[in-house]
Order: sequence, then C-alpha cells, then structure tokens
Amino acid sequence: MYDVIIVGAGAAGLTAAIYTCRKKLKTLIVSIDVGGQTNLTSHIENYPGTGAMHGIELMRRFQDEAIGFGAELIMGKVNKVDKIKNSFRVSLANGESYDCKALILAYGKVPKSLGIEGEEKFMGRGVST
Ligand SMILES: Cc1cc2nc3c(=O)[nH]c(=O)nc-3n(C[C@H](O)[C@H](O)[C@H](O)COP(=O)(O)OP(=O)(O)OC[C@H]3O[C@@H](n4cnc5c(N)ncnc54)[C@H](O)[C@@H]3O)c2cc1C
Repeated sequence: MYDVIIVGAGAAGLTAAIYTCRKKLKTLIVSIDVGGQTNLTSHIENYPGTGAMHGIELMRRFQDEAIGFGAELIMGKVNKVDKIKNSFRVSLANGESYDCKALILAYGKVPKSLGIEGEEKFMGRGVST
C-alpha cells in the first residue's frame, strides 16, 4: 500500500513526487515515459536558475531529485483506476496493479497537430504548441 501514486512522470508528476517524498509519504510514480512533453523541447529558457538547457536534461534533473528523495518509479501505462473503500487501485496495461491512499493524476496531454509539412521534423526546434 502506497501513501501516494502519481500517474505521469512529466514536469508535474515529478514535481509532485518531490513534495510528497519530502513529507515522507511512500510514493510510487507510474509512467509511460520520463519527461513527457518537455522532452520535445530543445531549449527550455523560462525555468529560472538553470540557464537554457535541453528539455531532456531538465527532466533528468527532476527525475534525479524525485528519486533522491525516495520516490519509486516504474514504467507502464495505467489503463484503469478503481476506488476501493478508502483507497485506490491503479491497474496497468501489463496486468500489474498497485494500491494507494491518495492518487495524483499528472498524465498531461498530447498536443494537437496541424498535419502540415515540416511540423513533425521541427517540433521543439522552432515549432511549438
Ligand atoms: C514542442 C513543445 C515545446 C515546449 N516548450 C516549453 C518551454 O520552452 N517552456 C515551458 O515552460 N513549457 C514548454 N512546453 C510545455 C511543457 O512541455 C508542458 O507544459 C509540460 O510538459 C506539462 O507537464 P505535465 O507533467 O503536466 O504533462 P506531460 O509533459 O504531458 O507529461 C505527462 C506524463 O504522463 C505520462 N502518461 C500519459 N498517459 C499515461 C498513462 N495512461 N499511464 C501512465 N503514464 C501516462 C506521459 O508518458 C508523461 O510522462 C512545451 C511543449 C511542447 C510540446
């Protein structure tokens, strides 16, 4: 039984984990990938204190901090959440399931594409959403 399960290891999920772990809550992050949409950005320039850096590098630092404070991280796709009395059961596509007292949904979004030439090629390198 985890105190908190966080679905999604993008900026929001990893930040949430830093907060929950600093308060000694037993925390599990379940995510399809680490970094989410920020991985698509070659230059993050609006995050104070770090200077410009690639999104993947910034997310790696978020991950290191969350893990450093004690978060557990597993890769997987959540496809079902059930409320069972005073807890939640989080089920993954691979058949595994985990229980928690509190659930944080930080599964972000997928930007809409226009479907025009060059959009995919230059995403995060001039093309943004
Ligand atoms: C091209 C581009 C450039 C950008 N540039 C900037 C910038 O310069 N500065 C800035 O501040 N912001 C920028 N953004 C916006 C920024 O990336 C988002 O605001 C941020 O990623 C949102 O974080 P999030 O954690 O809410 O969601 P996301 O980053 O979307 O992360 C969601 C996470 O949830 C996981 N997930 C989704 N569904 C499931 C599921 N069913 N089971 C398990 N895991 C799941 C995903 O794998 C992912 O890890 C940019 C976005 C894009 C696309």
